[in-house]
Amino acid sequence: MIVLNRTFANHYTLGCTVREPNDWRLTNQEHYLKGVVLVWHRYSPASTSNDHDHCSFCWTKFMAGSVPETLQEGYSTVDREHWVCKTCYDDFADLFEWKGGCAT
Ligand SMILES: [Zn+2]
Repeated sequence: MIVLNRTFANHYTLGCTVREPNDWRLTNQEHYLKGVVLVWHRYSPASTSNDHDHCSFCWTKFMAGSVPETLQEGYSTVDREHWVCKTCYDDFADLFEWKGGCAT
């Protein structure tokens, strides 16, 4: 039987994602994403001059409408300035101590 404890395992392979101790997706996001409230909702850009955003970690593209190979929903900060895809949310939630907000 395999016992997997997320607290002690920086590298784990069960499930579909793996976070490395120095994951390539980590680029000082703690300066603006540590401990913030992230809300799950449908993607809509923060301003009308912009039609897409990228995941703050893996750079997967978010777009409104059904565009192939883009995401239409995910987690964002309350002001919708920063977006995080579900995969990265799951991988980094414990590290960044995100707080859930109410979807609008
Ligand atoms: Zn991502």
